[in-house]
This record gives sequence, C-alpha cells and structure tokens, in this order.
Amino acid sequence: MELPRKILVGNGVISQLGSFITELDRNALKVAIITGKNVKARAGTVCKSSVSESSLQDSWYIVNDASIDSVNRLQTKISDCVPDFIIGFGGGRSVDIAKMTAFKLNKPLLSVPTSASHDGISSPFVSIRGTDKPHSIKVNTPIGVLADTQLLSEAPLRLLASGCGDLVAKLTAVKDWELARDEMNEYFGGYAANLAYMSAKIILDESRKLLHKNGFGIRTIVEALISAGVAACIAGSSRPCSGAEHLFSHALEYVVGHNYGLHGERVGLGTIMMAKLHNLDWERIVETLENVGAPTKAKQIKLNEEQVVKSLLTAQSLRPGRYTILSKLKLDKRSALELAKSVHIL
Ligand SMILES: [Zn+2]
Repeated sequence: MELPRKILVGNGVISQLGSFITELDRNALKVAIITGKNVKARAGTVCKSSVSESSLQDSWYIVNDASIDSVNRLQTKISDCVPDFIIGFGGGRSVDIAKMTAFKLNKPLLSVPTSASHDGISSPFVSIRGTDKPHSIKVNTPIGVLADTQLLSEAPLRLLASGCGDLVAKLTAVKDWELARDEMNEYFGGYAANLAYMSAKIILDESRKLLHKNGFGIRTIVEALISAGVAACIAGSSRPCSGAEHLFSHALEYVVGHNYGLHGERVGLGTIMMAKLHNLDWERIVETLENVGAPTKAKQIKLNEEQVVKSLLTAQSLRPGRYTILSKLKLDKRSALELAKSVHIL
C-alpha cells in the first residue's frame, strides 16, 4: 500500500510549498515544476518565490497536452537537471503528465492541483493519450499533495462541477466492485470501498451548498477527491473509484474523441445510467449533478443519440477484465437506447 506521506489543504498554502518540500526531504536541492501556460501566468510567481525562499532551485516545464509524446519529451529534458522532486502544478493534465514523468524517471512526485476536477490529485492513476490503454494506468502515488483552496477557487466553476461528477461516480464504482466480488469472487476491500463511498455521499448530502464558490464547497470537494484517490491507493487498484460509468467515459473518448465534455462530466452521465442498472436512486444523482451545475443530458456536452448508444455498447469491451454491471447485463442497441432515454440523458 503506497499512500501520500503529507497532505496540506488550506487557503494560501501555495506560499508554504518550499517548506512543504524541505519537510519531506531536508536534503532536497532541485525541483522540476510541470505546469500549463495559464497556471504559470496566474500563480507562477508565488509558487516560484515560495520554492526560492527554501533555497531550492526550480526549473519549469510547460505542457500543452496529456500525451505520451509530451511525457517522452519531458523525460529527456528533466533527466538532465536531476531534480529531487517533480511537481505537477496545475489542472488534471499537468498533474497527470508530471505523475507519469516522475514514474518514468523514478522520482518522487508532488501534486499541487489548481483545479478540483478529478480524483487523480492523490491517486496513483493517470490518463495519458497515445498509450495502448484506453483507460487509466497505474504509476506511483504522489508523495505529497498541496491543495491551495484560494487557487482552486479561482478555477472555473465548471471544473468543480466536473469534480463532483467524478465523485458521485464512486456510488456505481463501489456497486460494480461488490458485483465482481459476489459473481467473480474478486478481491473486495471493505475499507477502501467505504472510503470511496463516503466521498460520494458527502457530495449527495451537501450538493445545494457546494454551488457557491466559497471555502466550504471547495474544501469539501477537494477533500473528497483526495479521499477517493487515497481509497484507490489502499485498494491498490482503481476499483473503488472506477466502474462501468468510467468505462462509458473511456468509450466516449474512443468513439468521439476527447473534445466532448470534461472527464467528470462524462463520468457523471455514465453514473446516472449505471445507477439505474444497479437499481440505485438515479434521480437523486441527477438532482445532485443539477445542483452543482454539472451536465445531466448528452446534448449539454454536444453528444447525440448514436454516440451515446455506441459508447454504451463499446464500454465493456475496452476493459474485459473489469467485471461491471455492463458485463452482467450485456446491453444491445435497443436496451442501451432505452436506458439512456429512461434516465433522460437523451
Ligand atoms: Zn475519474
């Protein structure tokens, strides 16, 4: 079990990044910071000065996409500077690229998210384009997570809503895991499952209050995302966090490409449908997603009927080893269409 060693969440904590690093390793000298152009412009100065105050040397690397080519390029560039830590500073893309690069270079990774849009903040899983896997891959767990709620509050609300989509997904992910335990005799970790479930439950319970971009909403969402990532660390697999609703999202990427909705938005739609198949209270999930401003209909992320049905039919074959409700029920074109219509996705 590999867990983050240090987690710091709070307003303005980016100014403590330098001391956060030296507390993890007193002998650290150099850090490589992987970020996006906008994040560097918005918060690069405060991040840089915090690192310098702790007498750490920093080198910055800007990434534009979460592709394996970017990882390969960075791997070559960063290996020359021999950093003690690699820092993923930014949204999901920067954190994922940093995680993968750190894994390839065998360096510890710090996750410093500037948006609370998915649970990769603290988990050992990454989604990288251009690999032979259409789903996430396991790398090393971030050794530290520093989440500045002030910075997170400056990100667009749509990203937070997407984070909520990735959190309600744990309801169906845990159900799929239980199903695999009962029908396939798969290992099931009760503690990890409960932790993931709780991170979804708090979003269901508090969804009306989360919409306001205040400290409470941001802190609740980011803590829930970190907990969900830790649940995956404890399970040693993405099982507690990712079931058929994630397969649906991966299938959408496969069928229509990456330009339709954010990860958590696609996963949220998948959760509504898989909840219906599991006989869960799917209407409560719809209400929750509506409360936080996340999409509940395919057309809100520009998807049509054919694309949704095709993705439902493709989903399970993308990862045959992951037993889910889709493996059990084996939808055909008609039942897939009926399902999407019955929960008003279409
Ligand atoms: Zn996810």
